[in-house]
Amino acid sequence: MRRRISSLAKWSGVTFGLLSAAAAPAASQPAAKKFFGPQKTSAALAPRAIGSYANGCLAGAQQLPESGPTWEAMKLQRNRNWGHPLLIKFLKRFATDLKEKDGWPGLLIGDMAQPRGGPMSGGHKSHQSGLDADIWYKPKPARALTGKERADSWSIKLAEKYGKKVIKENWGPQYVKLLKRVVSYPETARIFVHPAVKRALCDAAGEDRTWLRKVRPWWSHNYHFHLRLKCPVGVPGCVNQKPPPPGDGCGAQLTDWMKKIEAAERWAKTKKKRPPKKAPPRRELRMADLPKACRAVLDADAGSSGPRTQLAPAPERRAAPPSPVQPGAARAATDPNLPWLRGIAAPERKPR
Ligand SMILES: [Zn+2]
Repeated sequence: MRRRISSLAKWSGVTFGLLSAAAAPAASQPAAKKFFGPQKTSAALAPRAIGSYANGCLAGAQQLPESGPTWEAMKLQRNRNWGHPLLIKFLKRFATDLKEKDGWPGLLIGDMAQPRGGPMSGGHKSHQSGLDADIWYKPKPARALTGKERADSWSIKLAEKYGKKVIKENWGPQYVKLLKRVVSYPETARIFVHPAVKRALCDAAGEDRTWLRKVRPWWSHNYHFHLRLKCPVGVPGCVNQKPPPPGDGCGAQLTDWMKKIEAAERWAKTKKKRPPKKAPPRRELRMADLPKACRAVLDADAGSSGPRTQLAPAPERRAAPPSPVQPGAARAATDPNLPWLRGIAAPERKPR
């Protein structure tokens, strides 16, 4: 079979042919998203989640079918309904369980990964290794959606961007069931929700509180929650995020989040009067920052049903590159893109 000449190979040939990798200044190297973003199909390799959620890629991805009995894939124009086969299987099982056990009509599934994972052309820092999925709070309608509906419709808002409580008219016990169900599976590493949603769950949980540990507050998740699966067992080079801190996260951690929300709202109201210092652009991940196996993923033939070549095993855990993604506390103090966070310690690491 003729080997596909990827844009990476062309770039490598031109750039590395003339300059050694070491000699090429990092700033002159194209961002890795320029190679991964335009990929149309998966790499015909054995399925493998490579690297971490925010610094990795995906071999042998499967595409979530656009419609199923209990789900619809949304925003197909983005071509982000790809994932590790474990994620596809998980979503189908979760959606079926919800319908059968909780009476939830079905899931609307937003961004997962690009066909070969990797840094996204826009919108997310994670979703790179095929184990993340954004799931809308709006339930699936009884019929299949048209292409235009998938492209144009939006989810339900459970909280305002800087809201400290959920929106009463939109919230209900069905969301407690939905979110309790998704963290009940051992495959689920954690989910990210808006802090107001976490607060509502803390209030509704009653005596059984162990499941709340996997429900982590984070910015922006007021229209959807973010599902993150653990690395499949026995996959070399797939890097898990550290488990969430012990406890239900409803005490001091949640109080800290409420303070952060207040600070963010204050900043948003006053920013026109006192514009923050112009922030330098965040450094994009380059190919040299990603695990080495990601080059083979870009170079592989297209298709998820082609020859199942095994990639050479990657080391168990690669040394962290000088990544633009920093631990939450350090980032809170230094990130010029989040000026309202200065002086407020983040309770845990940024999603990775
Ligand atoms: Zn997400």
